Amino acid sequence: MKVSVNQEACIGCGACIAIAEDLFEMNADGLSQAKVEEVPEDKVEQANEAVESCPTGAITKE
Ligand code: SF4
Repeated sequence: MKVSVNQEACIGCGACIAIAEDLFEMNADGLSQAKVEEVPEDKVEQANEAVESCPTGAITKE
C-alpha cells in the first residue's frame, strides 16, 4: 500500500500526522506529505484511519 497527499487539497490541519506520525510529516509549506514510499504492513490500519480522518479527502492510497 502507498499513500500520497494532494498538496492542492491539504489544509495543514495535522490530523494525519497526529494519527500516523510514522507515515506523514509537515513539509516546508506547512502541508502534509508522505514520509514513506511503501506503508509497512503494521501501519496499514493507521494509514486507513488517516485517510478517513482527513477533513478534505487529500490523502489517497493505492
Ligand atoms: S489530515 Fe488531510 S488536510 Fe489535514 S494535514 Fe493531513 S492531509 Fe492535510
